[in-house]
Amino acid sequence: MSSWELATSTYAQIRDQAYEVAVLPLGATEPHNFHLPYGTDRFEGDAVGRAAVEWAENRGGRVILLPTLPYGIESNMSALPFAMNLNPTTMIAVVRDLVESLRSSGVRKVLLLNMHGGNEPKSILRELYNQVDVHLFVCNWYEVVADCYDDLFEHREDHAGEMETSLMLSAFPDLVSRDDQGRIEGADGAVQPCRFEAVQRGWVRISRPWHALTASTGSGDPRLATREKGDRLLQILAERIGSFLVELSASAIDASFPMVPRKDADDAN
Ligand SMILES: [Zn+2]
Repeated sequence: MSSWELATSTYAQIRDQAYEVAVLPLGATEPHNFHLPYGTDRFEGDAVGRAAVEWAENRGGRVILLPTLPYGIESNMSALPFAMNLNPTTMIAVVRDLVESLRSSGVRKVLLLNMHGGNEPKSILRELYNQVDVHLFVCNWYEVVADCYDDLFEHREDHAGEMETSLMLSAFPDLVSRDDQGRIEGADGAVQPCRFEAVQRGWVRISRPWHALTASTGSGDPRLATREKGDRLLQILAERIGSFLVELSASAIDASFPMVPRKDADDAN
């Protein structure tokens, strides 16, 4: 049994270990078109977290993976059943308490591995910046592959489309609803545009009312998803996030952490 995943480890395996880094995946519970389960973001957090932390463990990283937080910020999905909301202020409070538990356990470098766009965890870093004696980092999983997205996938999506469905086909194929011929049972994921051009261009932002955005709750067509695309995606995520974790694990917390020391600071030493 491994000791890099907290949920499956015993006290006997954990108590004498010294971990440099903790990874806390942030999930959500919300509808994901007609073919993926409500817990998709939580299952994805488990899959990506395990792949990346195991990759790091095999290359000398001292990293522990926490259970994925199964709830997230869902205020813009309140018209849909069982979109289980934590308000942003509650989310910050939950993460603060968990990070303080990590500090008590001797961990001072924490990666928030965010699986749900609505969580927007950068604000958590700003809120906790002077409140906890822990260095916080955030990774939005869908941004990790931004530079190779078009090599991996045919269409853009942002919720329960080709990318998320491919990842689920790779990691949890039994949780993807398919018909007798194996076809994915999701709708096309068509979305309504905002009526304001400024919002379409992105220089005015809104929190999109999900019930008015899409009839299926999906955004992006899932029917192009394949297990092979998901395998490739998961491999790239493991390597990229895992490499960062190895680096982070090996990096000492000195006066200039996490920045490269300034030349004049070197001279003064
Ligand atoms: Zn999702």
